[in-house]
Amino acid sequence: MTKVLNEVLHANGDYVNDFDKGDLPMPPGRQFAILTCMDARLDPAKYAGLSEGDAHVIRNAGGRASDDAIRSLVISYKLLGTREWFVIHHTDCGMETFNNEIMGELLSSSLKTASVDASGWHDCCEGGGTTNGKFIEWLTISDQEKSVLSDVERIRKNSMVPADIPIYGYIYDVKTGSLIEVPSATEAGKAS
Ligand SMILES: [Zn+2]
Repeated sequence: MTKVLNEVLHANGDYVNDFDKGDLPMPPGRQFAILTCMDARLDPAKYAGLSEGDAHVIRNAGGRASDDAIRSLVISYKLLGTREWFVIHHTDCGMETFNNEIMGELLSSSLKTASVDASGWHDCCEGGGTTNGKFIEWLTISDQEKSVLSDVERIRKNSMVPADIPIYGYIYDVKTGSLIEVPSATEAGKAS
């Protein structure tokens, strides 16, 4: 058993010992959803004050409004009753450090984990790569405020999204833990 696997199962054992959430209903009790980045420094349960059963948290690289994120949001309201949504990107996001071309080249070189320094990303090894990564839209970010705005707009304009669901746009500051509103995004996402 790897160290991580052992740690996770041990932690789960502790969780089970104190577990008293077995009777929660499936629909989120506080009727909202958060779309945010998978970055390990972000803990939505802590930064937004969530307990089990409170809200849907949809995470991907960047917290982007991908087709799959929208799929989850539509299920979130249509079947499970959420009425307010947040799009939360964050400072120092890894999605700002590369673009489609760079990712395609790194994967073409090898499948090993790349490294990054002041001059950018570097692959450690040659061989065993694939060109498949050149055909993927990686949804990278060049400006956090713009990415929040464009994702809120993309969700707002989707024909499956009801006009009466407000969509709030925020940036989480990894240095302070605070949520900073992107007013243009919240304006674009306002309910009507
Ligand atoms: Zn991120």
